[in-house]
Amino acid sequence: MKYELPKLNYSYDALEPVIDAKTMEIHHSKHHQAYVDNANKIMDKYPQLADKKLEEILTDIDSYGLETADRQGLINQGGGVINHNLHWQMIDPNNTRDENLAAAIEKEFGSVEEFKKIFGEAGLKQFGSGWAWLVKDKTGKLLVYALPNQETPYAKGHTPILTMDVWEHAYYLKYQNRRAEYIDNWWKAVRILG
Ligand code: MN
Repeated sequence: MKYELPKLNYSYDALEPVIDAKTMEIHHSKHHQAYVDNANKIMDKYPQLADKKLEEILTDIDSYGLETADRQGLINQGGGVINHNLHWQMIDPNNTRDENLAAAIEKEFGSVEEFKKIFGEAGLKQFGSGWAWLVKDKTGKLLVYALPNQETPYAKGHTPILTMDVWEHAYYLKYQNRRAEYIDNWWKAVRILG
């Protein structure tokens, strides 16, 4: 089974002016496509894993007998595939507010506004490239943290709920070095907590 670039059910300019069309186009058709192509190149070497989902492999990367370079390659490229799959869902303008999620967040963090502050801080303080995450652990508790590069919460046994890309390629054309401004504006594109 080959990994594929997901088609977006919205246009590249749908999130203007928060996320500009050029950033969306390059992010989707170049960056995400490259992760898909590179992950497929690695997976071609392991036909015995053809039916495994990336989420499953990345949950327990050491149990598949991967060569060292391919192990790290899948963390980077495979992580890039599934993280970006989530990314496009987060900012889908067709989303509507998820009241159940808002209620769970209020219970854990006091308020949605407080949660946005904590999550935004995690993204802001991530040194270099990475993602901010809201996840559920095995007991169902909600946690916020950032992970570097394309590491995924699956490797910790956590289930992703929300994620924000803080790689420069996600915002540099419009926001340059102003990651904090990108993060503040990013919430306007996240209708599930709108
Ligand atoms: Mn990205």
